[in-house]
Amino acid sequence: MSRNYDYIIVGGGSSGCALASKLATKGKVLLVEKGANHTAYPQSKVKEGWPQIAAVVVSALRNKGSGHWTGTANVLGGGSTMNAGVCVRGQKEIFTSLGIDLSSAEKAFQFLERTICLPADYEEYQKIFEDAWKERGDYYRLPGYTYGSWIEEALRDNNVSLSEGNSHGYKNSIQVAKTIMPTKDNDERRPASFLFEKSHLVEKEASILDQGNLTVLLLTQAKQIIFNDNNVAIGVDLISPAGNMTAYVRREGKIFLNAGVYETPKLLMLSGIGPRATLDKYDIPVLYENEHVGLHLQDRKTSYITLAGLKDIEGDDAAILDVLAISEKTWSYMSNKNTLVWGNAFGRCQTCAPIHRTNSCATQVLAAAIFYGSGYQDSGPHYLPMNVIGRYPETRGNITLASSSYSDDVIVQDGWSTNINDLKGPALNDFNTIVGGVQDQIIRFMRETSILEKLGTVALNASLNEKFSAELQDFLTTSQDQRLKASELLDECKFNENPLGDCVSMDTCLPTTPSIPVNDSAILREIVFNSLGSTWHMSGTCRVGDVVKKGSMEVIGVRNLHISDLSILDETVDTHPFMTAMVIGLTVGENTSPVQSGNFEYFPVILSSFCCVIILLIPFILIIKAIYGKLKNKRKMMDFRSLRQSMARSLRAQATEAVTIMKWRNVSCSYATKAASKTTLFNNSGKIVSGELTALMGPSGSSKSTLLDILAGRKSEGRISGAFDVLGQHVDAYQDGVSKITTAMKNHSAYIPQQEFFYPTQTCFEAVNFVANMCLGKPKNENQRKAFISLCLDDVGLPSEEFADRKIGGDLPGGITIRGLSGGERKRLVLATALALKPRVMFIDEITREENVASVVIIHQPSAKVFKNFDNLLLLAKGRQVYAGPLAELPEFYERNYDEGIPQDYDLADDLIVKAIAYQAERDEDHWAGPLQANMDDIPIQSTSEEKIDLGKIEGTSIVSENYLAGSEMSVGDSENPESELSFVDNPIMKESDESYEQPPSSWKLTIVFKRNLKNQYMSNIANVVGRLASYTILSILIGAIFFQVGKGANSSSDGLTFTEAELLIRTNIFVLNVSYLLPFSSIPVFVGDKRFFVAECALGLYSPWMYGLSQVVLETLFVTLAAIIQTCIIIPMCSMVNPSFSAPISFMTMLAALIMSGLVGSTLVFLCSMALPSQDLAFVAGSTIVTISLALSGGFLPPSEMSAFPYALQWISPVKYSMQALLTSQLDGTSAERLLDIGEFNTPSSVTGNLGVLVGIFLLLALLSGLAMTRLKETR
Ligand SMILES: Cc1cc2nc3c(=O)[nH]c(=O)nc-3n(C[C@H](O)[C@H](O)[C@H](O)COP(=O)(O)OP(=O)(O)OC[C@H]3O[C@@H](n4cnc5c(N)ncnc54)[C@H](O)[C@@H]3O)c2cc1C
Repeated sequence: MSRNYDYIIVGGGSSGCALASKLATKGKVLLVEKGANHTAYPQSKVKEGWPQIAAVVVSALRNKGSGHWTGTANVLGGGSTMNAGVCVRGQKEIFTSLGIDLSSAEKAFQFLERTICLPADYEEYQKIFEDAWKERGDYYRLPGYTYGSWIEEALRDNNVSLSEGNSHGYKNSIQVAKTIMPTKDNDERRPASFLFEKSHLVEKEASILDQGNLTVLLLTQAKQIIFNDNNVAIGVDLISPAGNMTAYVRREGKIFLNAGVYETPKLLMLSGIGPRATLDKYDIPVLYENEHVGLHLQDRKTSYITLAGLKDIEGDDAAILDVLAISEKTWSYMSNKNTLVWGNAFGRCQTCAPIHRTNSCATQVLAAAIFYGSGYQDSGPHYLPMNVIGRYPETRGNITLASSSYSDDVIVQDGWSTNINDLKGPALNDFNTIVGGVQDQIIRFMRETSILEKLGTVALNASLNEKFSAELQDFLTTSQDQRLKASELLDECKFNENPLGDCVSMDTCLPTTPSIPVNDSAILREIVFNSLGSTWHMSGTCRVGDVVKKGSMEVIGVRNLHISDLSILDETVDTHPFMTAMVIGLTVGENTSPVQSGNFEYFPVILSSFCCVIILLIPFILIIKAIYGKLKNKRKMMDFRSLRQSMARSLRAQATEAVTIMKWRNVSCSYATKAASKTTLFNNSGKIVSGELTALMGPSGSSKSTLLDILAGRKSEGRISGAFDVLGQHVDAYQDGVSKITTAMKNHSAYIPQQEFFYPTQTCFEAVNFVANMCLGKPKNENQRKAFISLCLDDVGLPSEEFADRKIGGDLPGGITIRGLSGGERKRLVLATALALKPRVMFIDEITREENVASVVIIHQPSAKVFKNFDNLLLLAKGRQVYAGPLAELPEFYERNYDEGIPQDYDLADDLIVKAIAYQAERDEDHWAGPLQANMDDIPIQSTSEEKIDLGKIEGTSIVSENYLAGSEMSVGDSENPESELSFVDNPIMKESDESYEQPPSSWKLTIVFKRNLKNQYMSNIANVVGRLASYTILSILIGAIFFQVGKGANSSSDGLTFTEAELLIRTNIFVLNVSYLLPFSSIPVFVGDKRFFVAECALGLYSPWMYGLSQVVLETLFVTLAAIIQTCIIIPMCSMVNPSFSAPISFMTMLAALIMSGLVGSTLVFLCSMALPSQDLAFVAGSTIVTISLALSGGFLPPSEMSAFPYALQWISPVKYSMQALLTSQLDGTSAERLLDIGEFNTPSSVTGNLGVLVGIFLLLALLSGLAMTRLKETR
């Protein structure tokens, strides 16, 4: 049920309640009070009830020094609930020493004097007292209710000269105070809790309780303060009748200790702040060492002397001490006839000598008091207590822990002693002050004024040595008998002696109890000493400057923990302290700024808004483009047809002479192995001439592929030597490196691999157009480009009218099959794409014939019909050249080397292979005699520039294709269409071809790759897209149904959920994130399938890997964004996930940003696995392992600090952790469950922006790694 608060106040006493009343107007407040509600004690309203309240409410601590009983009132309102209730201002120095602005203090005092303080009943009894003081002549009655150092101003305001005053700057004064006690007009006490319970009635303001910000936990004790790793106070461990619990404050919330002078330092020490020796002694981990905690205790003492009152006086049973006589060092008051029992009950036998104030005496006296067992509290003659109190005590004591248990009271040492002779230093001074006060304010007062007469004790005019009246003597004797009787019953207690025997006149002693000797100061001191007790006006155990900072009252060494009770005072409050305690509470509350509720973060909202805009724009743009394209096509259709016809006619007309495109000499290839270098190709020479078809033959292992790869510029491994002329450019493989051959050849050749890869969803036109766009760049004239592509299709036997829009077909990743081209048609399409490259040379693993396009073909034992179409033959055996020359010269070759002569056509190819195998077997490598025939002498390799081939000549060369290889193994198809012949001379396409050898700009290529991937992977593969989106939708609906409305919570308030409810929300979020991180796995087949196309296309050198990677990442980003929007639109409302600190749209957009980034990271992770790992299965295994571990490390299952060191360190690289943090922060920041973010350790980084930043970083890193992995995917040959 718990939730976090803006402020937690420990201790609902005088200061705590006042503080709560202020803070409750600024935020959610939890006030924790150890005791019960004050209304639980109706006894407080009748005098007979006081002893019982004292027994129940006031903790009984016995001062180790003096033996006086002391303690805190454990009840709502604290001391103000059962004290004497005199409203008196504390001295100004106190507020300035605390850094509290005096005008604020003035305002607070005035407020209290208006609300809780009432004019005390002023009756005969009070008048007697006041008049008696006036008789002294040196006491001045101040008007109004101003006290302490405020008196100065009051005097000035009343034109009283300060020069007449004493050393404090003002005269002895008589002050008639207001009170919070019941009066005739008001039978209810107004304790500090009145400030939030009822003060609004007086002030005519809105009720604080009705505002709903204040929660008061009664009978609940704070055990210790909880800090985070940065020493920031975040919560309080509590124990209540309901058991243990912890209450937390929000992120910048504050905890206030107002548990009084004993419990506040105790709580600090139990929480690890205090003297090291004490903390070590009780094995309390030190959070911050501070030797001052618990020191400087002041416990002001009072002397209790009772006067005999022989007559009933109006008001002698009502007021307690509303009339004060204040002199320079002491002050005194006379309280009503019921107060003796009251004081005796609190002080646990205050009327006993200190050494007799034992535990058992205290218990017995309490019992006697409760049941009136002591019997001297009766009607008729009675004792009227008169107290003399030191104003500025000097004695300092301390408190320390008795154990490490919160339930044990502290040990109190007040700096005094139980033996008068042991008094020294400040305690002796304080004692002397009180003795002086007794002499002045009791002895002198009684002897020089008519007070005793007015009380009915002696006649006003009785002389000093005249005997006491018989009535008085009788009263004193009776009361002494009663005391003695009581002493017998209360065996442990010895009441202060009443030396009546020697005390018969005012000249020897005064008729008080104990009787005060007038002339014997030694006895007087002893009697006063035995009558001393605590006033419960303690202060100083967490002194400002030592334990708390001045002004903020923040505890030194930690953050967000403050103290605002009387323990922070450096000096005791003059006369009465509870008003000062309340003023400190009020002013600290006033100066405390409200806790900001939830940080509005721009970044997530901007990010998600941007994504939404893009997603909305895409279909819009596509629709516009489609309409525009349709209109444009319609307009230009006629032009295109005529253009193609004229292009075909002009192409047919041209033919050019044969030109040598490439020559090579002594080309070898070797590989470094562990043992030694291994050569696989030896000193090959040859040439490629435009328009000629060259067969590259040899038995298996003859290094045909090595030679073909070297010539095609595709060789990526091995050490190549030899000399080349490539289109007139001389390259020495040793000097210039292979890359130069690669660059030179790649731009002018087409390589047709054995296995072709096409997107099944592509049309034939799109496939060829893609290659043309990649190699020829952006068309200057789109119709010309279309005509060219149509002609490429026509040329390979795929009439464009029929095939241009035909889908290639095949198996889509994911299992769907699209009907399309036959195997042969696919082969032809490969040729068409090769033609679109406008190559000088085609390197083909299969056979074809393109006139004026040189073709080098690896061919295994071709049929005679096919073989006769070749112009040249390169025959290899174990990497060595057996034959290199025109087919026409084969008869000569046979004649020269073999007796049997050249075989028939149909045996020739087979026989050549047999010859090569035999030749290979006959000779070992060391005895190679050179080629049987290599008529390459006419192709010297020159490095002179004059020998360079005229490129212009080749560009003018016609490529005339007649697919006359019909019926061959390749079955390219027939060519009955005369328009399928191409000529590149002086026609519009040729103009394009002027630029064709310059690489198109990367931006263009990127655009083409992007568009192609968009169309084929998403728009044309709509089933896959819909399927993936459907799984997001279905899963989101299911999760929404399972966790339906968890965000509402049965006990949630307008500012959020309880902790228990929020914990359920955290678990829900784990499943929400599962959607983001696990559903991308459905894309693995798609990614892996795409990888094949990518590898094949990259091997053809069509584009760089990064272009594919980038377009893929961007497209997947858009897809995942769309998926995240769907997911968010379903889950968020179904689960009622909303952050009440913000408006619903802001809260939605922030969560959307978290889900978008999570989806992106999840998807890119899967993409990386698909690209980096060799198989789909491995991608699944690796991806799911990473995501599962990452989920486990997210903190949603177990806070990281509860993990061992290794997983604890791993959490920082878990992307799900940051997603979880972003999502939870977006939901809980600023709410009543905000602190769960810290408790669950979802706080590094602590903002949504911070976590999204990390996720963006991870996303970019994964994208980069994917790019790198894709670079490595390039074919190695
Ligand atoms: C018997 C008696 C008579 C007094 N007479 C007078 C008088 O006549 N005039 C005068 O001005 N002053 C009087 N005082 C003193 C005055 O009441 C106190 O100085 C004043 O109340 C102190 O205020 P405080 O806020 O510092 O602490 P308190 O008012 O004592 O409040 C401390 C509160 O903290 C609570 N608390 C303590 N520990 C815990 C914990 N671990 N968890 C939760 N709650 C806790 C206590 O139950 C208590 O309610 C008297 C005090 C007593 C005890």
